[in-house]
Amino acid sequence: MDKKIMELPVVKKIAEARDLAWVNPKLKPFADVSLEVAMADIEDAEKRLARFAPFIVKCFPETADRGGLIESALTPVPKMQAYVNRVYGSALPGRLLLKQDSHLAIAGSVKARGGIYEVLKHTEDLALEAGLITMEDDYSVLASDECRTFFSQYTIQVGSTGNLGLSIGIASAAVGYKVIVHMSADARQWKKDMLRSHGVKVVEYESDYSEAVKNGRRQSDADPKSYFIDDENSKNLFMGYAVAAKRLRTQLTELDVTVDGDHPLFVYIPCGVGGAPGGVTFGLKELWGDNVHCFFAEPVQAPCMLLGMATGLHNDISVQDVGLTGLTHADGLAVGRPSGFVGKVMEPLLSGEFTLEDKRLYEYMRNLLETEDIFLEPSACAAFEGPVRLLQYEETKAYIKEKGLWDKMDDAVHIAWATGGRLVPEDIREEYKNTYLDQ
Ligand SMILES: *Cc1c(COP(=O)(O)O)cnc(C)c1O
Repeated sequence: MDKKIMELPVVKKIAEARDLAWVNPKLKPFADVSLEVAMADIEDAEKRLARFAPFIVKCFPETADRGGLIESALTPVPKMQAYVNRVYGSALPGRLLLKQDSHLAIAGSVKARGGIYEVLKHTEDLALEAGLITMEDDYSVLASDECRTFFSQYTIQVGSTGNLGLSIGIASAAVGYKVIVHMSADARQWKKDMLRSHGVKVVEYESDYSEAVKNGRRQSDADPKSYFIDDENSKNLFMGYAVAAKRLRTQLTELDVTVDGDHPLFVYIPCGVGGAPGGVTFGLKELWGDNVHCFFAEPVQAPCMLLGMATGLHNDISVQDVGLTGLTHADGLAVGRPSGFVGKVMEPLLSGEFTLEDKRLYEYMRNLLETEDIFLEPSACAAFEGPVRLLQYEETKAYIKEKGLWDKMDDAVHIAWATGGRLVPEDIREEYKNTYLDQ
């Protein structure tokens, strides 16, 4: 890496692999932001998901009570908030809520938004082209044997650290596609086993996520009937995630939560390659502009989005370039190089980032289980680093003062975005519950 880059104070600090808070100096007033993506793209995705709802109900009866919408609960977690205030001295005023994408239907993670959306988008493209449906039809016909036979000539491929593979694998197998998931070394064994049980071909790599993606992309490009779902560059995935924001607005209304100049909303989302937290953040900013403050959380050894944004190099820099390992217990966040597409969209939108040590993931996991009886996988628990430490770091305290929010914090709402956990098997949960790390 360029010596000038290595000498930037923020890079030196990241390279030390200690927990930190970073406030984005390029955050802009929302009115001054111009983006290559727009609200119209979110609405298009939302309509597509509505067209597919009858098909989703048919393939996944577990979604019937939400009418084929894949959506999760938003719940107050007051006991967890009281616990962190008491034990970690967080002094977090306002209300702490948990967005339980950990419990989403089908994939048990936030990937049920972007991943499944992109499989459906591709399915619609193929089906319209082949004249199997028109956009006015009831899409449940796509679950017929005749359609399944049609889709079985096509292959879907994806590179994954685990959850994206689960989401794409399960959804694609349901449509009838052949599926190949390219799994990085960090992927947990149970995720590979579960996929194979759905008839998915799992290719294992000893290298990290970026290599798995590169190989998957290459193999897919060599086959004209194969479609590669590209987590590093896909606008479709991103829009699937962004739809979450519009649904969240309805849920906040149901909880009597107002978001405006006097009632700020803080949202904390674990980040891997960036698609999921980036898509959600884009949607939230479109809805609430300057009144929503989005922070990402990443492991100290794999803060790829932070490094890309803080240097402005995006996908031209990796955590290994600054001497970090990229290794973490947060398998869903074990990414060494961020999405360049997402990083550039986030530049004027993201408020900042927190990095955290792996040991905290397991602490927060046990804390939530004990106080609220909700289980999350370790990666998802990174979300709590934000609310726990927002008022402990000088950087984030200065942010709150500079935005004129200090006196409004009693009326603030904080959302920890729980990104995964429901599918974790019982024996693995036990193992996690008993994991205590030194760092
Ligand atoms: C994938 C994932 C994330 C982060 O999403 P990216 O799109 O990779 O940034 C966070 N938490 C969990 C549990 C995940 O599986």
